Amino acid sequence: MSVTSRQVVIIGSGPAGLTAAIYAARADLKPLVIEGEPSSTSDQPGGQLMLTTEVENFPGFPEGVTGPQLMADMRAQAARFGAELVSRRVSRVDLSERPFKVWIGDPEAPTPTHLAESLIVSTGAQSVMLGLEAEQRLIGHGLSTCATCDGFFFRDQEIAVVGGGDSAIEEATFLTKFASRVTIIHRRDELRASKIMQQRAFDNPKIDFAWNSTVDDILGESVVTGLRLRDTVTNELRELPVTGVFVAIGHKPNSGLFAGQLDMDDNGYLVTGPDRSTTNVDGVFACGDVQDHTYRQAITAASSGCMAAIDTERWLEDLH
Ligand code: NAP
Repeated sequence: MSVTSRQVVIIGSGPAGLTAAIYAARADLKPLVIEGEPSSTSDQPGGQLMLTTEVENFPGFPEGVTGPQLMADMRAQAARFGAELVSRRVSRVDLSERPFKVWIGDPEAPTPTHLAESLIVSTGAQSVMLGLEAEQRLIGHGLSTCATCDGFFFRDQEIAVVGGGDSAIEEATFLTKFASRVTIIHRRDELRASKIMQQRAFDNPKIDFAWNSTVDDILGESVVTGLRLRDTVTNELRELPVTGVFVAIGHKPNSGLFAGQLDMDDNGYLVTGPDRSTTNVDGVFACGDVQDHTYRQAITAASSGCMAAIDTERWLEDLH
């Protein structure tokens, strides 16, 4: 493959990357979006929204929109203004000098596939999952990783949250606005969450705890109907009938590609400047969930993609 040279290369095609692409394309920067590849859980790249059924909180869609449709529309909008999208995965980057080098395919190849004057990193994050086969079948059908996104669908239902950290307690507390009962399933007899969050959960009459319990299986063919729990002390199995389950056992940013080159916090999230998308490498910008461990919403990812494109455009203007 011959080396191509670009003003802007965008890595990742969730709402952050595609919004950056729309803005960069409309600024006539002819961005190349290396959008990733289909995965075992979705036949299109597009990030976590590809695993979401209904999205009802993205402004502009009063009747809601499916996650895959929203991503297809953003992709079409970026392409309409001249963004080029390739469905491949970046295997290596070299940010030690400009132009930055980007490899697709063999990471040991002597020449990179793309040279980039500037780079926008929007590789997203993944929810850590339990590793059960049922998760692939039921995600978006009663199984969720985002209470803010999906809590509304569980009004007056009995549901469960898996995990014992701050995220699990926060999600469970939020979900009691909708659900009639929320059972927190934790593998130990003591929560990891901060004391104040713990107390909030203990004081909430709608929250129950299944201590010393792991999820052996998620039940239901096309929608969640219950959980099979295993007692970690006695090894006994029991069923918990629930119509929804939220997995909240942590998130993992997709930042491994940049290890040793871009500054990260202890959890692997890229560090960006205050109110900026700048990273420690001049000309490399980051947006979306790979640098956001707080909000993690499609709309906040999209808005940070817009910021990254504007920061990039101004940086290129200064450079030239
Ligand atoms: P976390 O603190 O790493 O907690 C993960 C929880 O999931 C732990 O309780 C862990 O159990 C459990 N877990 C991990 N793998 C599991 C598995 N395979 N099966 C069953 N359970 C499993 O993650 P987090 O709650 O997402 O929080 C991440 C960071 O963000 C933390 O620093 C947290 O304080 C912060 N945060 C803060 C707030 C807030 O202050 N409002 C809200 C959310 C997150 P063990 O306890 O047994 O290890």
